[in-house]
Amino acid sequence: MGKPLFPVPSEILAHLDQYIMGQDHAKRKISGAAYEHYISHSAKACGITDYAPRSNILLIGPTGCGKTLIAQTLARFLNLPFVQVDLTHFASTGYVGKDIGSIVLKLLKASPNKRKAERAVLFLDEFDKIAGNNSHEKDVTGFALQAELLKMMEGDIYTWTNRADKTFELDLSGVLFIFAGAFPELPGIVRKRLGSQAIGFPDGGLRKKAEDPEGEVLSLAIPEDFDRFGFLPEIMGRMGHLAALEPLGEEELGRILLEAKGSPLKQTQVFFKLHGINLQLSKKAIRTISKKALALSTGARALTSVLGNSLENLRFQCPELQEKGVRAIRIVDLREDGQPRFKMEEGEPLGLKKRRSLQAQILSPFSQRQSKPRRQSKGPWNQED
Ligand code: ADP
Repeated sequence: MGKPLFPVPSEILAHLDQYIMGQDHAKRKISGAAYEHYISHSAKACGITDYAPRSNILLIGPTGCGKTLIAQTLARFLNLPFVQVDLTHFASTGYVGKDIGSIVLKLLKASPNKRKAERAVLFLDEFDKIAGNNSHEKDVTGFALQAELLKMMEGDIYTWTNRADKTFELDLSGVLFIFAGAFPELPGIVRKRLGSQAIGFPDGGLRKKAEDPEGEVLSLAIPEDFDRFGFLPEIMGRMGHLAALEPLGEEELGRILLEAKGSPLKQTQVFFKLHGINLQLSKKAIRTISKKALALSTGARALTSVLGNSLENLRFQCPELQEKGVRAIRIVDLREDGQPRFKMEEGEPLGLKKRRSLQAQILSPFSQRQSKPRRQSKGPWNQED
């Protein structure tokens, strides 16, 4: 069988669609950018040097809207290492940009295969936190960090020497850099530049300032807006793709619960299923959970805690409920205090003995898997690794 081809943008997008609800613009952008990046990297390896698009990506959006999930899902689909770095950590060391080179070490640790590490998806979170402070001449940390990052994005082989004088080296030209940040003040900067009256939209419409959806304002950001925010024009010039993500509304939160692969609800349902119990939520319950999550202002992250807290007692009792013969639980709604109102469907009681033997069945493949070495999944391409 021939070597599988690299997935085309539409295939990457179709995969992302299964896990990430909404954020269509960002998903599309990242699918195209990742494809171009890895194609141009392969072309370079084949000696084609006159094709080198800028593939670095900047994702802008509030916390919990899916920035990390998009990058992580992309890496998993492409079977490439995913390395996440929180840039706030470097901003607080005050060690003027030097430590940031330790990212090389993280990349090297991410895969036993160096060639694979050189094609990793590098997710640099909290990018807005390393903005330089234009008003304090002595506050150079942010700009120094940016300058070091720029060196990593521009060159091929990057060398880093740690404080114990040990040197690490990696070719970073194939690494896909994805930056992410909330940039809370950016919409204000964009609006100010555009004037306080109104903004023209591609559909020809004009909307008043207060009604501009955040994502649409951000999509109008230009490099100068980031200069004002405290970013070197050189680093912004290296961002080939900028995608603004929308804050998630009640409807999207509901869709995440019901439709997204690996959603907190789907995982909880699997847990109940392992105990022979079919867990279902009414539309009303889904709406209430979404509402409560929205009120916490942490995006979809809040779904895990709202759902988790409401079902904690039922999860705790799962083995005993199974023993009693409970086959189905329907969550009708959540009360004010977050606890569920539910209905149970019971069959013949199983008894402790039967429950234990079912549990042994569930656990046996797990213990077998533990003893056998796990087969590495190959992913759709780069099977030579
Ligand atoms: P951030 O934008 O802060 O990087 P994450 O991607 O880490 O947010 O998302 C936080 C949690 O919410 C994760 O568990 C993720 O699975 C879920 N989540 C966030 N946005 C979405 C989305 N658009 N679709 C599905 N799940 C999402």
